[in-house]
Amino acid sequence: MVSTFAPQAAGDLNFLKKLNRSSILATVRRYPGATRADIASRTQLTKATVGGVVQALLERGWLREGALQPRGGGRPGRALYLDDSHHVLLGADIGVRGLRLVACTLGGEVLLQRYVTEPPTTPEATAVRLAAMLRILRDDPAIAGRHCLGLGVTVPGPVSPVDPILRLAPNLGWVDVAFLDVLREHLTDLDGIWLLDNEANAAAFGEFFFHDGIPPESIVYISAASGIGSGMVTGDNFPLVPRGGQGLVGEIGHTIVQPGGLYCHCGNRGCAETLVSGWAIRAALGIADDENLEAAIMARGEDTEVDVTLRRAGEALGILMLNLHHTLNPATLVLGGSLMRLGERLTQPALSYFEAHQNDLLRGTQRVPVKVIHDSTFTAARGAAAEVMAKAALEA
Ligand SMILES: [Zn+2]
Repeated sequence: MVSTFAPQAAGDLNFLKKLNRSSILATVRRYPGATRADIASRTQLTKATVGGVVQALLERGWLREGALQPRGGGRPGRALYLDDSHHVLLGADIGVRGLRLVACTLGGEVLLQRYVTEPPTTPEATAVRLAAMLRILRDDPAIAGRHCLGLGVTVPGPVSPVDPILRLAPNLGWVDVAFLDVLREHLTDLDGIWLLDNEANAAAFGEFFFHDGIPPESIVYISAASGIGSGMVTGDNFPLVPRGGQGLVGEIGHTIVQPGGLYCHCGNRGCAETLVSGWAIRAALGIADDENLEAAIMARGEDTEVDVTLRRAGEALGILMLNLHHTLNPATLVLGGSLMRLGERLTQPALSYFEAHQNDLLRGTQRVPVKVIHDSTFTAARGAAAEVMAKAALEA
C-alpha cells in the first residue's frame, strides 16, 4: 500500500469530509456502542457534522444502530456499531511456501479463509492461481451477496513507497514486479481498492487497526518465517506505517548481527537471516526445501543439534527485538510468522534475551509487552484487508 493517509492541499473540503468520516469510523471501531454525542466529544467534531456523516454511513451500510443509550440528564442516543453484514474486505498473502486468502467484515471478523501450500513460481503463474482462488472465494455463499470494498495483496519483500511495485523478494527470486498489474489481467471484474504491501507491514497494520478496544500507541510486528522482516504502525485515527525512502523500513533480516559471519542471499555476510530464518535453520539442520520444517524438527525429537540451532536462532531473534526496542521503541512488540510454530525451543531464548536486556536504559522501571502469535497463517492477509478498509474510508 502506498499510503493510508496522504495529506492534501489545505482547504480541500472534500478531503476534510473524508478525514471526518475516517475519524468517526475509527471512533466507532474503538468504542463499539458509542452514540453520536460520544463521537462528537471524542473527535472534537460538531454534533451536526457527526450527525451528517453518521447518517451517510448508515445509508451506505457501514454503520448500524443499536439500543438507546441513557445519558445522564441529556437526550438518550442510539448506540452505533460497524455494520458487519453488507461489505466484505479481501486480503491475499503471497508467502514463500503458499498462498493465503481471507474475506472479512469491516470489524475484522474472518468470514472465509483459504490456504494452499504450493510455493509460488513466477508472478504470472501466481497471478493465475490467485485469481482462480479469488473467483471461487467470491462465489462462496458466505460472502456472495456482499459488496466488496477491495483487495489487499501482501508480498515477502520491500514494496516501493511510491508505486505498488515489489522491489525484491529474495526468497521467491522476484525483482521489480508490478504484481497488481499482472493480477488485474486475470481478474478484470473485481472493483474497489487494490493495494500491494510488504507482508510484515500489513500484519502490523492489521494488529493495530483490528485491535480489540483501544490499540497501544504503536506496534512493531516481527515476521519470522522463511525470511525475517518487521513492520511498524503508529498513530491514532489515521494509522501510519513508516516506509522509508525506498520501502526498506523494517527489513531487519538484513541487519548485521555477526560481522564476517555466513553469507546471506543478499550478498552481505552475517545478516540476521543467516541465524534466524526458515532457510538458515533448514541449512543448519540439512532439512530439504520441500520438507515441512515443523514436522522435520518434531521428528528429530530431543536432538542436540536441533536444540543448539534453535537456541542460536532464538537468541538472534532476541537481539533483533532489543534492537527494534532501542531504535523504534514500540509500545507493544508482536512476534508472528511460521517459525513461531517451532515453539518454546525458539521463542524462549528470544524472550529471555529481550527480558534480560530491554531495560538497561530505563533502569528496569518499564516493561514492553510482547505478544506471541502462535498461528499467524492469516495475519498478513487480514492485515491487508484492514488496509483496504482504511483506504476505503478515506477514498470511497
Ligand atoms: Zn542479508
